[in-house]
Amino acid sequence: MRWALIGASRIASGYMIDALRVQPESEIVSVLSSDATRGARYAEDHAIPHSFTDLDALLDGPPIDAVYISTTNEKHHAQALMAIAAGKHVLCEKPLATSLADAIEMVSAADEEGVTFGTNHHLRNAGSHLAIRDLIDEGRIGDVQSVRVFHAVSLPQQLRGWRINDASAGGGVIPDITVHDADTVRFLLGEDPVDVIAKSATSGLGEGVEDSAMSVWSMPSGAMVQSHESFTHPFARTGIEIHGTKGSIHADGVMSQEPVGTIHLVDAQGRHEIGFETHNLYHRAVRLFSKAAAGSGRPSADGIDGVKSLAVALAVRESARSGTCQRVNYGEPSK
Ligand code: NDP
Repeated sequence: MRWALIGASRIASGYMIDALRVQPESEIVSVLSSDATRGARYAEDHAIPHSFTDLDALLDGPPIDAVYISTTNEKHHAQALMAIAAGKHVLCEKPLATSLADAIEMVSAADEEGVTFGTNHHLRNAGSHLAIRDLIDEGRIGDVQSVRVFHAVSLPQQLRGWRINDASAGGGVIPDITVHDADTVRFLLGEDPVDVIAKSATSGLGEGVEDSAMSVWSMPSGAMVQSHESFTHPFARTGIEIHGTKGSIHADGVMSQEPVGTIHLVDAQGRHEIGFETHNLYHRAVRLFSKAAAGSGRPSADGIDGVKSLAVALAVRESARSGTCQRVNYGEPSK
């Protein structure tokens, strides 16, 4: 698979360049940056043969099969549509877009063009979350009654740019973290929230965007979900608790980009530690995407997952804005 990076980003340099290169017969051919000097330096630093500032030129340039899009959120839509129109497979960062209509258009276009589309929701690739889903599917906690997501962190200094001060670039904790939590809960429970009620706040970092949010979601099964995201909590722990009629799952430290944390199953027999695989989350995501592009299986999170998880985040934001309960509008994805 010959890749182009659309976006000279930190997530690419920190995780995805490695994840793309570790796959068999995979290479990174080119990178797109809006700044020629920075793009050239990024290409040199990461041994990428070509850098471009124009997406048409990149798509017409040295041959590629797929693009990985990790620009700021407002750019994903137009860039994905161009890559799809050029017949490239697209692995796109979350949130797919800044509006539901745009996200649906991207996924529909990929469908019509017959290219593979994936959304880079990393958490569902974690061994921890795969093990939690197995516990639920095996009935180890009975019927799920409620979920509590703890995802309040301290945003690292180097990420305190557009995320905290640029609403037009898709900043704010809801498009940044709530969207991941929506995806994780959808993945673990195998169902999509029906409605949400939320509050958001600006508690020290956000400039024109929220830096903290709390919300409650109703699931079709009747389960309730409570979710907390923030950029301003240096001493909070992350985790997820899932409570059922026969037991509870306590997963600590698992809302992470790293394969870390602990899982305990608590039931009538006591408290049991649950082991899980500690593979690299992004390696697995790219492996499944690459296989899907080669005609086998599906990406770990496909386009519809990206659309639905965005829909939940948008409903959370609208609920916080309006002060009203919001039914989640999933639109009409093409498949
Ligand atoms: P960055 O801020 O690192 O990169 C976004 C854009 O900012 C780049 O495309 C680049 O523009 C520009 N940029 C990057 N570094 C610099 C710099 N030093 N000086 C000037 N401009 C710079 O964003 P992230 O990597 O944190 O996020 C990118 C996307 O990935 C977002 O959609 C985000 O939501 C997603 N993401 C996903 C994660 C996951 O685990 N799935 C984790 C982190 C982010 P240009 O390309 O024009 O040079």
